[in-house]
Amino acid sequence: MDKPCELLAISRTRACDVWMCEDCNTVHLGIGPLSLRLKMAHFFAVVETLLEAAHRIRVLRNESNVAVEANHTRYH
Ligand SMILES: [Zn+2]
Repeated sequence: MDKPCELLAISRTRACDVWMCEDCNTVHLGIGPLSLRLKMAHFFAVVETLLEAAHRIRVLRNESNVAVEANHTRYH
């Protein structure tokens, strides 16, 4: 049985929390009730995809980045 991950807190916000385990080279991502454990490369690929998606949504909605940032902390 693998030993439990030793998690290093990377970033915590109201939106999500990000932890890293250097032993198994993973990122643990918590979003509300969801908890994801991703290989490092997969995590970065997901981040790139999300940034691209966010960019496309902003373009589709014809919003400036400034307006979106101002609403960044509103989730509900
Ligand atoms: Zn680990």
